[in-house]
Amino acid sequence: MEKVYQIGNKKFVLDQSKAEKAFEAKKIINGRETMTFNLLPLKYQWAYDLYRTMKANHWEPEDIQMAKDIDQWKNADALSEVDRWIIMMGIGYFSAAEGIVGDNIIHVVRELVTAPELKLVLGRHAHEENIHADSLLYMIASLGINPHECEAMFEDVETIVKKNEFVTGTSRALRRDLDLSKTENKQLLAKNIFVFGQCMEGTQFYGLFGMILSLYRQNKVPGIGQMFRYTLRDESNHIELFRNLFMDLVEENRDIWTPEFKEDLVETMRTAVALEKEFISDCLPVNAVGLKLEDFLQYIDYIADRRLEGIGLDPFNPGIRNPLPWLAEMMDIKKEQNFFEGRVTEYQKASSLNTVDDDEL
Ligand code: MN
Ligand code: FE
Repeated sequence: MEKVYQIGNKKFVLDQSKAEKAFEAKKIINGRETMTFNLLPLKYQWAYDLYRTMKANHWEPEDIQMAKDIDQWKNADALSEVDRWIIMMGIGYFSAAEGIVGDNIIHVVRELVTAPELKLVLGRHAHEENIHADSLLYMIASLGINPHECEAMFEDVETIVKKNEFVTGTSRALRRDLDLSKTENKQLLAKNIFVFGQCMEGTQFYGLFGMILSLYRQNKVPGIGQMFRYTLRDESNHIELFRNLFMDLVEENRDIWTPEFKEDLVETMRTAVALEKEFISDCLPVNAVGLKLEDFLQYIDYIADRRLEGIGLDPFNPGIRNPLPWLAEMMDIKKEQNFFEGRVTEYQKASSLNTVDDDEL
C-alpha cells in the first residue's frame, strides 16, 4: 500500500504500513531514538510550517544601514541621555539574552525532544538567535561602543542579573541525563519550555523592545530600530514554536498537567512580570520625552496575560487594555515597501521547487 504525502510544494509516496509505524513512533519526548533525520512522515506539521515561515523571514544585519544611527550617536543633541541609556541597556541585555536562549535550545530542548521535525525547527530557532546576537555585535561595532561596557551591564545591573538567574535556573537542572518517563522530570522540561518561550522571549523581552521601538518611532536610531523590528518578528515565531511544543508535550503526557503544576506556572509568570517591571522602572526611571513608564508597565501585564491564555491558563488582569497598540503594527513588516522586500521574496521563490501555490494545498 502506498500513500502520498504532500509537504509544502513537494509530494512524497511512502509505503503506508512502514509510514504508519514511523508516524506512531514519533513523540515529543520518549519517541524513537534515531541518529537519522527521518522527517517523513510528518507528525508535527506545525513545526515544518513554522520552519518554512522562519526561513522566509531570513535577514542579515549588514544589509541594514547604520549611517544615520552613527550620526545621531555622535551628535549630543540628537539623542538624550535617557535615549542613550535605553540603547545601551537594549544592546547589553539582548547580547547576553539571545545567547542564553540559543544555548538552552541546543543543550536542553533540542536534545530532549525526539521527533526530527522538532529538531529541524529548533535548529532554525537557534540560528535565528545567532543572527540576533550578530546584529547586536554589528550595532556595537557601528556605534563604537565599548563592548566591555555592555558586558558589564549584564553583570552589574542588578535587575538584569535577577532576570537572568530566573531563566538560567530552569535550564541548569536539565543538563544531565534525565529519566523522562518520570512525571517530575517531564514537568521540569515543560516548565523550561514555558519559562523560555512564554516568560522570557514572550514577556521579558518586551519592555526593551517597546522602548527601543518608541525611539525608532521618533525617528531615532533607524538602523537599530529596523533590526529590532526584524528580531521582534522572529521572536513572535519563537513564542509560537514553544507554545505549540508545550501544548503537544502536555497533550501527549497528561500526567504533567496537575493542579499543582498549573499553579507553579502561574506563580512563575507572576515572578517574571515582577522582575520585568523592576527592570523597566530601573531602565526608564523617569518619564522621558515620549515615553511613559506606566504604559510600559501596563504593556507587560497585557502581554503576560496573552501568554497565559495562549496555554490555557487564566489571565491576571482580564480585559486589560493594550497601552501600546502601535507595537503590533511595527511587527507587521510584510506590508511595508523597503529595500529588503526584494530579498525576502527571493528567498521564498528559491525555496519553491514547482509552481504549486501554498493556498492550493
Ligand atoms: Mn532572539
Ligand atoms: Fe528568540
